Amino acid sequence: MTVAMTIAVAVDLGVGCTGEMSKRPDLVLIVLDTVRADRVSCYGYDRPTTPRIDALCARGVRFANASSTSAWTVPAHASLFTGLYPIHHRATQESPRLGPDPATLPEILAAVGYATFGVSANPLVGPVTGLDRGFERFVTTWAPAASPDGVHPNVTAVRELLADRAERPVFLFVNFMEAHSPNRPPEPERSRFLSLEPLERAARMESALALTPGRYYVDPQAAAADLPVLSDLYDGEIATLDRAVGELLDALAAEGLGDALVVVTADHGESFGEHGRFRHAFELYATTVRVPLILAGPGLEDAGWVREEPVSLVDVFATLLARAGAASPGGEYPGRDLLAASGLEERPVFAEYYYPLQALSNLPPELVSAHPEVFAPFARRLRSVERGGLRLIASTPGGVELFDARGDPGELRDLAGDRAADAEQLGALLDAFVERAGGRPPHPSQPGAGERPSPLGDLDPDTAEQLRELGYLR
Ligand SMILES: [Zn+2]
Repeated sequence: MTVAMTIAVAVDLGVGCTGEMSKRPDLVLIVLDTVRADRVSCYGYDRPTTPRIDALCARGVRFANASSTSAWTVPAHASLFTGLYPIHHRATQESPRLGPDPATLPEILAAVGYATFGVSANPLVGPVTGLDRGFERFVTTWAPAASPDGVHPNVTAVRELLADRAERPVFLFVNFMEAHSPNRPPEPERSRFLSLEPLERAARMESALALTPGRYYVDPQAAAADLPVLSDLYDGEIATLDRAVGELLDALAAEGLGDALVVVTADHGESFGEHGRFRHAFELYATTVRVPLILAGPGLEDAGWVREEPVSLVDVFATLLARAGAASPGGEYPGRDLLAASGLEERPVFAEYYYPLQALSNLPPELVSAHPEVFAPFARRLRSVERGGLRLIASTPGGVELFDARGDPGELRDLAGDRAADAEQLGALLDAFVERAGGRPPHPSQPGAGERPSPLGDLDPDTAEQLRELGYLR
């Protein structure tokens, strides 16, 4: 059966057709928090970081030019769950919480009979930000009890949840946090990718792990020696994460979900000094926007396909709904069913980064007030658009950069001056995108870096402590 025919059959099941419920496929969405695409081996990385994910690539479809809708956790997950760009779902740096609408993926899937389970290792993906909305059961594993059996807490949680599925098809979302800072991979992954002499390892690692965004931005030269160490540790964490993903896939097979459609992606990447940026804030370069996106499962057996068209996390929503035979809620949705759509090469793909109220509030105020020349330029909105192999990044003060998205994946050469007509055309697409969405006005006041309380609001002590460890709170 062709992919198109498979989809036609799925769609024919229709919403609310409970008699045919057993035909709806199980759906598994795995988010590798903070994993940039170019560190995944099947995306061309020259280190073997991801053997289990590579095996999925080999039997599924890999989207070589997939983008997040933002550069950080909350808006990206909100796009996965609502199928909308940040300009529409509005869970951004300025207000990092998903509101009571629009409908979410688990809500829509539950309405056609799915058991909907979420497991999150990231405290920003859960009750704190409203991203658990619509899940029948949602488990946070970010402060798990000790796991004496050595099983990953996410896998333990998934096994427990699946016991409640009865005869229903399952939608399962799992977020893994290994790649997010702080990066302290266990052995043997720690040593595997660390380019340091054994005797200097401990001291150099501790120095690198103590590097904060504030210190980096004030004196990038002083931090230069720490970045390669952090980058190596990041690779070690991705290898650790890959092992956990393998464990999850084995558990799914053992629990009868071996035929599920599996989507593996990330919410954003990570920067290690590229473009003068550190971690994932204040930017929309490919290091933070390019994410892996791999689909494997029914209709794709031994496909091993690679698709080059620009695609987005908003497409994951559309694809999963199509697979489930569920209709999108009313209104205009930007995503496409990636297993059926054509013309993706001509469709523009967007990403957005709003005034970084959350990121700026994390910086030490004394550092910010002592170095306004460093931090004041970060108080801006950014948007990017990609089409026809070109990617334009525009900022609210009016600056634009243009990159050859495929010929120059590191975005080292700004073509905005040489290809002014292309830059103008993409800029017009961006303007139309904002206008269609009602042209959200700029934030009413220029945010004062380091002066504001966290936009996350009041938090319980455990959540606050966890967010502090992850660098989301001071
Ligand atoms: Zn994240």
